[in-house]
Amino acid sequence: MRETRTKKTKTVCTFCGVGCTFEVWTKDRHILKIEPSEDAPVNSISTCIKGKFGWDFVNSDQRLTTPLIRRGDTFVEATWEEALSLVARRLGELRDTYGGNALGFVSSSKTTNEEAYLMQKLARQVFETNNVDNCSRYCQSPATDGLLSTVGYGGDSGTIKDIASAGLVIIIGANPTEGHPVLATRVKRAKKLHGQKLIVSDLRRHEMAERSDIYLHPRQGTDFVWLTAVAKYMIDQGWQDESFISARVNGYEDYLQFLQPYTLEYASNITGISIAQLEETARLIHEADGTCVLWGMGVTQNIAGSHTSAAISNLLLVTGNYGRPGAGAYPLRGHNNVQGACDMGTLPQWLPGYQHVSNDVARAHFEKAYGVSISPKPGYTNIEMLKAVEAGKLKGMYLMGEDMAWVDSNSLHVHEMLSELEFFVVQDVFFTKTAQFADVILPACPSLEKDGTFTNTERRIQRLYQALEPLGDAKPDWQIIQEIANRLGASWNYSHPGEIMDEIASLAPVFSGVSYKRLEGWNSQVWPVLPDGTDEPLLYLERFNFPDGKARFSMVDYVAPVEFPPEFDLVVNNGRMLEHFHEGNMTNKSKGIQYKVPDVFVEVPPALAQERGVKDGTMVRLVSPYGAIKLRALVTDRVQGMELYVPMHSVSHENAINILTGNAVDVRTQTPAYKQTKVRMEIL
Ligand code: SF4
Repeated sequence: MRETRTKKTKTVCTFCGVGCTFEVWTKDRHILKIEPSEDAPVNSISTCIKGKFGWDFVNSDQRLTTPLIRRGDTFVEATWEEALSLVARRLGELRDTYGGNALGFVSSSKTTNEEAYLMQKLARQVFETNNVDNCSRYCQSPATDGLLSTVGYGGDSGTIKDIASAGLVIIIGANPTEGHPVLATRVKRAKKLHGQKLIVSDLRRHEMAERSDIYLHPRQGTDFVWLTAVAKYMIDQGWQDESFISARVNGYEDYLQFLQPYTLEYASNITGISIAQLEETARLIHEADGTCVLWGMGVTQNIAGSHTSAAISNLLLVTGNYGRPGAGAYPLRGHNNVQGACDMGTLPQWLPGYQHVSNDVARAHFEKAYGVSISPKPGYTNIEMLKAVEAGKLKGMYLMGEDMAWVDSNSLHVHEMLSELEFFVVQDVFFTKTAQFADVILPACPSLEKDGTFTNTERRIQRLYQALEPLGDAKPDWQIIQEIANRLGASWNYSHPGEIMDEIASLAPVFSGVSYKRLEGWNSQVWPVLPDGTDEPLLYLERFNFPDGKARFSMVDYVAPVEFPPEFDLVVNNGRMLEHFHEGNMTNKSKGIQYKVPDVFVEVPPALAQERGVKDGTMVRLVSPYGAIKLRALVTDRVQGMELYVPMHSVSHENAINILTGNAVDVRTQTPAYKQTKVRMEIL
């Protein structure tokens, strides 16, 4: 029915992991305005440009509004009945012919918690495989791994509001001004109002670096070394928190031995950071009343991103910076529901609520609920799924809300692998690059067209409410997954996402007290949540998440960055712009944003530009061992030395950064080492 009244609906922003909430005013399908509220637990009355103005993509004429089925080289419109019957028949045939492990399921960090949960349930119950992953594999898996191995939970250790009370904030490999703007505002305000100190370590001299007390510019991929050397130096100075370590951390004696090679001289040689700056960094940590470390893809998208994340946690343990407000570890989640997608078990080794598939008790709990047996062996990651396609072991995939053909590294190779699949289903809001390789494309609803919950970077679960009717024949992802499951013999009967959340709460102890009743309106819950609804915004007050309650030092060695042939002489870094969201598949459909920032460019340092004859606007070709792209140059001192920077929101795939990125991955989590990319630059 056509809506004629002006309506206000509470929603959760989908453009980054901060998790701002506000009311969206709508009439018919028109979005009249975004109105923040003092009741919003994270952002209060703040928003940023994306949250305020980035929503008209929901009415884009590029939306998918009907299912599509491949006919040769083209797609034809189909009814839901035709499309779902075909999906169920072909996925079922592949399962019956090759076994469930010949299928892969890719969930999304943009869909709701309930939808992510159902995707893993479909994989584990209907196909009896653990081959399920989500796009956190491309970004934050190393941070989760580093924290799980040292303190026991993979999430932020406190709330975003807590960061303001830190004496010192250290930001490593992240640009919150553009990537997490409302969070950045809190840091800027704390600096101005009560003298909070700021250290930034980044290749690029971005706005937060300009504002910092110390700006560290390490060589690409070497943060691990300076972090570890600063930990050693602080212990050598007697600046460690001895009582915290002895009461709450295991393995200190071994850690002291492990630290021996990491002198400041060694660190300075490897990183290029001066010894004086490293000493000053240690002094600021020592003098601060609480240190928070915030980090992003500049850390995680390296071949040892998980090691570096663990080194951050080690430094916080050495200095007693866990278990109190204004201290702790803050991996900055990029997509709005990276945290939730992982929490819900769309990971090959974790059942919902971080219960490992090898844990017999947890597995038995799910086996009873699902009525099937679940393998104790982790399934394929996204990266392994493509390798399995190449090896002829993976025959079919079902991918929801993720543009793998654009965002995975070495994307030309990804295209080849996707073409090899015997059957490929893509479910999305738009006809993505990945959809071009699909056999069936299913039109899904964006967040404004459905109910559910998202979990932000600080583990806060928040409700979003349906503001608009689905466009055309699009459906919420949870309904589509349910229809496929039931066509394959399941008997799911969810009539609302709240019923899915009740099931999650019954199976995952960390969510046991989560319910839609408790999440009503502006209410929220920060996991872990006890059965009585008590939540835990600040982790590790009394114990770390290990059986003995104690944290542990990680002792993993430095892994040097990937080497390239000498002709590839320039490091090319990549990241976000304030106005755009990730690969841009929503914000580049927003007219105002697209008008303001129509396309990407390559930042070139002034000295290098002069040496190579590059001016503002010069067209250049960047060539890596994997491919080449053409871009316009922007000469700026935000970058320096032999380093370039390319934003990742290109409008066309022809100049997308992932044509250049390669095959190297993080040693523990297989997150692509996007940041370890080198190119040569040719003037056109
Ligand atoms: Fe949305 Fe993030 Fe901006 Fe908040 S800071 S309005 S969550 S993009």
